[in-house]
Amino acid sequence: MAASRQAAMFRLPPLPTIGEIIKLFKLRAEKQLSQNFLLDLRLTDKIVRKAGSLKDAHVCEVGPGPGGITRSILNAGVAEVLLIEKDQRFIPGLQMLSDAAPGKVRIVHGDILTYNKLGKAFPEQLMKNWEDDPPDIHIIGNLPFSVSTPLIIKWLENISKRDGPFRYGRTQMTLTFQKEVGEVDVTVVHFTPLVQPKIEQPFKLVEKVVRTVFQFRRKYCHQSVRVLFPEAERLEKAEQLLKLADVDPTLRPTQLSMFHFKSLCDVYRKMCDEDPKLFTYNYRDELTEKRNRKRSRFCKTNDDVI
Ligand code: SAM
Repeated sequence: MAASRQAAMFRLPPLPTIGEIIKLFKLRAEKQLSQNFLLDLRLTDKIVRKAGSLKDAHVCEVGPGPGGITRSILNAGVAEVLLIEKDQRFIPGLQMLSDAAPGKVRIVHGDILTYNKLGKAFPEQLMKNWEDDPPDIHIIGNLPFSVSTPLIIKWLENISKRDGPFRYGRTQMTLTFQKEVGEVDVTVVHFTPLVQPKIEQPFKLVEKVVRTVFQFRRKYCHQSVRVLFPEAERLEKAEQLLKLADVDPTLRPTQLSMFHFKSLCDVYRKMCDEDPKLFTYNYRDELTEKRNRKRSRFCKTNDDVI
């Protein structure tokens, strides 16, 4: 029988349910770690289907926990799944899954935010040119918001440099986002990196502009745009930026389009080229410095007391 037909036909043997695994290994969800588990295999199948066909694919699952999504990934006929889990308590349950699917599961006990071996984690022959179709590599995960947000920013930077998991080409990601722990509705977002970025500026610059604009998400954008500039020239420069970028100052951050952001980044880049100190200017540093100055005016330091 051809290897690919064998892979397509792979089904996990009968196993304890995820609920039973949780009881067996005493895997109480740690609320302070925002843990909550998907127990319904129909739901985990639905999440995994969002990734597209996984037949013979190489998958990295981040935060597998008791392994509900992992089972759906294995049942989709993958070549291999790499599991990265931070909480040691889940490793024995995942090992049980690994025993049920010999040669298909690799387990790493580690933190995905600091794990830096994804750029070497898959077979080299899977590598594709950036302009080609995506490689047969997928990242899937149901992580808490507090982890998925910094992680997606880290991966966006990896995409811009084509390193980390994107060294293999335009690796696709399927990630769930939950607003609150325990909320039943999860939003599943499938990402495929674009061949050509919509904003052709350095990642750090784009990140700074977007992060700053969203700083006061309910206010008019001119209020957040101001803090891109030192206090002395704030009003004048913010007005200049919005005018040159053709952005209505009374739009709120969520009303700005991709075109608006592109335009803001392009004009801000020109301003930074004209004033090289501007890019390193950080509003928060200025605030901290101001607060410290104020404090030292009113408090005696230890040195003074001695
Ligand atoms: N994927 C499982 C499911 O859907 O039932 C568990 C989901 S639970 C919301 C998040 C999982 O991610 C937990 O198992 C937690 O230990 C793990 N996790 C949290 N932060 C992590 C990190 N930085 N690196 C790796 N795993 C992490």
